[in-house]
Amino acid sequence: MLQCAKKYGVSFDTVNPSPQILGQLPLWHHFGQDPNKMQRNNSASCKCLQANHDVWLVHEGLVMLRRLRDEEQKPTPTCKCLACSEDRHVRSCNNPHVCTSAVERRLSSLLPK
Ligand SMILES: [Zn+2]
Ligand SMILES: [Zn+2]
Repeated sequence: MLQCAKKYGVSFDTVNPSPQILGQLPLWHHFGQDPNKMQRNNSASCKCLQANHDVWLVHEGLVMLRRLRDEEQKPTPTCKCLACSEDRHVRSCNNPHVCTSAVERRLSSLLPK
C-alpha cells in the first residue's frame, strides 16, 4: 500500500510538475527549451533582467509579469505603474516594458501553455 502510494507519487510529480517546482526552474537555461525557437539569452533586456531586475527563476519572471494586469500598465518605456516606476528608479532599468516583454516571450517559449 505504502509502496504503491510512493510509486504513484513519484510518477505524478514527473509527468505533472507542480507550479512550485516549475517556479524554481531557471528562466535562462531551461531543459524545456524548444530548440526550434531562437535563444534569447544574450539580448540586452536579458542582461538587464539578470543584472538589474535580479530575475533568474521562472517564478521571479512570473512576479514581473504581474504588472501586465495593472490598469496603469502601458506598453511604453515611461509607463507610470508602480512596478515600472520602481524598476526605473530602484533598479536602473531604462525600459521596463521591453524587459517585461522579454520575460513574457521567454516564458511562453518555456511553458507549454
Ligand atoms: Zn508598467
Ligand atoms: Zn530592465
